[in-house]
Amino acid sequence: MGEQDLCHDDHTWLKVAETVLSRPHEEIVEQLGDDLSFASMRAFHACRASDAGVYFREGILRNNPDRLAAQLTALLDEEPDLAHHRAQVEKLLADQKLFDRDKGRVYLTADDKGLVESAGHYLLYGGEWFMCMLGFAGHEALRKRGVPTMLQLDLPLSAVLTHERTQLSQVLLQEWVRIKVNRPDWVPDLDFTFCLRQDVPPEWLVGHYHPPVVVDAHHGYIKRKTLDPFCPHCRAGAGAEG
Ligand SMILES: [Zn+2]
Repeated sequence: MGEQDLCHDDHTWLKVAETVLSRPHEEIVEQLGDDLSFASMRAFHACRASDAGVYFREGILRNNPDRLAAQLTALLDEEPDLAHHRAQVEKLLADQKLFDRDKGRVYLTADDKGLVESAGHYLLYGGEWFMCMLGFAGHEALRKRGVPTMLQLDLPLSAVLTHERTQLSQVLLQEWVRIKVNRPDWVPDLDFTFCLRQDVPPEWLVGHYHPPVVVDAHHGYIKRKTLDPFCPHCRAGAGAEG
């Protein structure tokens, strides 16, 4: 067939696949999606933690706005510089839609690279809920706490939604065809997110690390160096679980 001038994420690859498939690609994608429910996949969750050991004991808990609001109140109490901002925070906390924006969800990604190099705000500021409530005024205070932490887990794909498994199946089929046809010597960044509606149990976690440098897209893409890339869990000698 020769090398095809197609971008890695061009859906035309699925049409190329059909030249060797015995059935339409939609059927293969659906079948593969079903079969993937027996597989597990390395996935990542980015956060800012004082001690990664908490996750290895309790798992990754779903977004619980009441718990986050309590943490936010404690932070405001500890940060006199944010006192002037308290009224604004109270106003935002009263916005139910904003308050519940990610309620009951845990987000995981299939690739950690983007979380370090382009979407670093989870590592630098601990998550979008806090950023929404505090705005730019709270950035410095959030960066003072904890360490950028990447949690690594083996995600059983039976736990993800069927349509996410089907989407993943399509991405895999597309990449398989690209590799077969073009024989590339590189792999694209995989921009793929899973949204779970359950807590991640500690048994799924296999390791964690603290990226030494994280790109801050909210401040001109500057590279922020992690001053102390260790947490108590690392120091206890448990940093290499995975
Ligand atoms: Zn650590």
